[in-house]
Amino acid sequence: MIPYGRQSVDEADIEAVVQVLRSDWLTQGPAIERFEAAMATRCATDHGVMVCNATAALHIACLAAGLGPGDWLWTSPNTFLASANCGLYCGARVDFVDIDPLTWNLSAEALALKLEIAEREGRLPKVVVAVAFAGQSCDMAAIARLAERYGFTLIEDASHAVGAQYGGQPVGSGEFADMTVFSFHPVKIITTAEGGIVMTRHTELAERLRRLRSHGMTRDPAMMSEPSHGPWYYQQVELGFNYRATDIQAALGVSQLARLDGFLARRRALADAYDQALTGLGLQLPARQASAESAWHLYVVRIAERRDEVFAALRAAGVGVNVHYIPVHLQPFYRQMGFGPGDFPEAEAYYAQALSLPLYPGLTEAEQHYIVNALSDALA
Ligand SMILES: *Cc1c(COP(=O)(O)O)cnc(C)c1O
Repeated sequence: MIPYGRQSVDEADIEAVVQVLRSDWLTQGPAIERFEAAMATRCATDHGVMVCNATAALHIACLAAGLGPGDWLWTSPNTFLASANCGLYCGARVDFVDIDPLTWNLSAEALALKLEIAEREGRLPKVVVAVAFAGQSCDMAAIARLAERYGFTLIEDASHAVGAQYGGQPVGSGEFADMTVFSFHPVKIITTAEGGIVMTRHTELAERLRRLRSHGMTRDPAMMSEPSHGPWYYQQVELGFNYRATDIQAALGVSQLARLDGFLARRRALADAYDQALTGLGLQLPARQASAESAWHLYVVRIAERRDEVFAALRAAGVGVNVHYIPVHLQPFYRQMGFGPGDFPEAEAYYAQALSLPLYPGLTEAEQHYIVNALSDALA
C-alpha cells in the first residue's frame, strides 16, 4: 500500500538524535533553544516556543490569548479536531465559519458576515483559528483586517504549512497572525516524531507561552509575589502544564529543518505533476493563489460523484487515499452542542467529494504514475 503521507528520515537525522542520547541533556537542554532559534530565523520572526505536539501548542496559544469561560473561539469546520478542541480546553465555546468552495479554507467573506451578526448580538469571538488547509494560508490579509476591526486574537493553525509563504512572507512571520502553530507529526512537512511550536513576534506572549509550557512556574524574581527563599526557589504564578518537548525531538527538528527546502521542492514538483496528469478528468483540482505558496501537505481533488466508490477502488489497488476532513461540527461530540447537518453547507459538500492522494517527498514518479492510472481507471 502506498501511504497518503510518510516521513523522510536520513542518516543525518539519525546521527542528530544519537548525539543527544550520548549527551548530558535529554530534555530541558540546549537543543530546544537551537531548534526554536532556527525556526524563528526560518520564519523571519522573533520567538518560537516548542512543545510536545501542536495540539498543546494550540491550547497554550489560546490561553495566552486570554481565552476562557464565556468566550468564543471560531475556526474552520474543514480541519483536524484539535483546531476546535483547543477552545474547549480553555472552557470557551466553539463555533465555525464555513469554507470557500475553491480554496477549501475558512472563507474571509463568510467570516466578515458572521462577525457583523455577532457584533449586533454581542457575542464576538475572542480568538479565531485560521487553518492553512493542505499547506496554503487562508486570505490572511483580509482576516487580519477583521481581527483589527473586531478585536479578536488571530491564531494561524499552520500545522500543514511549515515552509509555506503568504503575502511574500514566510508563514509564521507574524505579519498577519498574532501566533502561528506548526505541527511536526510524521505526516506533516518536517517531523520531530511528536512536536509542535508556537511562533510569535510578541515577547510578552512568548514569555507566557514558556510559562504555560512548564507548570506556570517562574524563576524570575520580578514576577514573584514574595521575596525569593534562595537560589532553589521557583514560584507558580498561574496554572500551567508539562507540555515540554525533549532535546531528542528538538535535535531531530534541527536536522529536518535543514532539509526543508528539499522537501518543499519535491512536494511542489509532485503537486505540479498531479495537476498536469489530472487535467481533463473532470476533477476539481487544488486552487493556486497568487498571494500564497503552499507547502503541499495534502493534494486533494474533488470528485463530483461516486467518491466512495473511487476511494474503495483505489484502496483495493493499493493506493492509500484518505479523506481530509470530516467536518468537525458533524462529530457526535460537537452535535451534542447543537451542531448538525446543514450548518456549514460548503464544508459538507466538500466532504462528500474530497479525496487526498498520496503526497510525500519519497513518493517516486513510478508510484505517482501508478496512482494517476488507478484514479483514471476508477473514474472511467
Ligand atoms: C496535525 C494537526 C494538528 C495537531 O497536531 P499534533 O502535533 O498531532 O497535535 C492540529 N491542526 C491541524 C490542522 C493538523 O493537521
